[in-house]
Amino acid sequence: MIRNLQTKLILFMVLISIFSGCFSFVISYCFYGNTIEHTMKQNQTKIAENILLLHDETDFPLEKIISMDFGSEYEVNVVNDISSYDDLTESGEVIYSEKPLHSITTLVPVEDKYVVISNKPKKNLFFYTTINSLLAISYTLIFISIMVTMFSKKFLMPIRNLNYATGEVAKGNFNIKLPIPNEFELASLTAKFNTMVKELNSIETLRNDFISNVSHEIKTPIATIQGFSNLLKDDTLSKEDRDEYLDIIISETSRISNLTSNILKLTKLETQEIITDKVAFSLDEQLRHSVLLLQRDLSEKNLDIDIDLDEVEIYSNEDLLQQVWINLISNAIKFTDENGKISIQLMDTEDTATVKITDTGIGMNAESINHIFDKFYQADKSHSSNGNGLGLALVKRIVDLCDGTIRVKSMLGEGSSFTVELPKNNIKIEG
Ligand code: ADP
Repeated sequence: MIRNLQTKLILFMVLISIFSGCFSFVISYCFYGNTIEHTMKQNQTKIAENILLLHDETDFPLEKIISMDFGSEYEVNVVNDISSYDDLTESGEVIYSEKPLHSITTLVPVEDKYVVISNKPKKNLFFYTTINSLLAISYTLIFISIMVTMFSKKFLMPIRNLNYATGEVAKGNFNIKLPIPNEFELASLTAKFNTMVKELNSIETLRNDFISNVSHEIKTPIATIQGFSNLLKDDTLSKEDRDEYLDIIISETSRISNLTSNILKLTKLETQEIITDKVAFSLDEQLRHSVLLLQRDLSEKNLDIDIDLDEVEIYSNEDLLQQVWINLISNAIKFTDENGKISIQLMDTEDTATVKITDTGIGMNAESINHIFDKFYQADKSHSSNGNGLGLALVKRIVDLCDGTIRVKSMLGEGSSFTVELPKNNIKIEG
């Protein structure tokens, strides 16, 4: 079994040329055979007429007449008996013997003998055509083999490159980019391969960044817990100091716990393609409930809250949307100074529900706005101990899964506003 593409290509071309050679031979033989046969018949008849004329008009013996030159293509002999000739047809003074494959012999009765006019063996139509066709096929084969060997190397180069590059990617080397060949199909294949490797490379970078971010986020609270646990070993510590250290350890522990639960939620949502467990529920009720859950934080900062909610029923996953509002409202509380104001609006439009959460907090610059949905991004480092930069990544993923949109407007020092637009009946065909 031949497995080399170049050899297969050469063999394929050779077979095609043999086939087309044979085909053209048969076609030409069928089409032109009759014409050539007719010409042969005419020529042989002419020779026969000349022989008869010479025999009738001169005293030349028959042997002398037939030894004359009647053209290099024909043979003239005398026989006594014509019983060995088949398929005889008489036409005037001559008799034709026609054999298959357009072979003609003309017989002329002279005296009590027969003059036989036939084509010389090498001038036989079948022999002639076969030799010529075989020669043409052989030249074509040699030419094709040389051409295919020379050019297949160039044509097969992109496939060889792809083969090598795929091997590299399989080994984990994603820093590879292939030149785009000229041929349309190979160009498209190579371009797609390059895009795939680029994607894999960025996934690999994201994975590495993710691991280093997670490690960093976990390392800091663990170091704090370790430090304060060691301090607690001191028997001479006062009760106040001991309580303070224990509070720090408890808060750092809950930070790790929040971080891991957010990572788990996000990982689960990222592998999810559709929203499951949908129910119909009141969105305005859910927003009111979310504010209630965060009432303590609002009161601690003495924030003014303004709520303006249309009545909206939505068909979606209740728990996931609850997380969206909790994250957005708690961010508004976290990034707004004491005595600030937070407003929550719910507008009912025909097919969608729009929730707008606005605060008079620290706001963000354009650069931060571009990154707030990235995992672990925290624009404001002063609040970094109070979060892990995963909240908005989760919000974005949930809104995307709900086929909704989220927009942010913010001015540094003036406040921010997050607008979430959701389809009310976002029923997806599942399964
Ligand atoms: P974090 O846990 O830090 O709150 P998020 O993903 O929820 O993480 O938010 C990412 C970053 O976006 C925050 O660290 C903050 O810098 C910025 N941000 C989010 N909401 C607001 C807001 N309402 N006002 C100002 N900045 C905000």
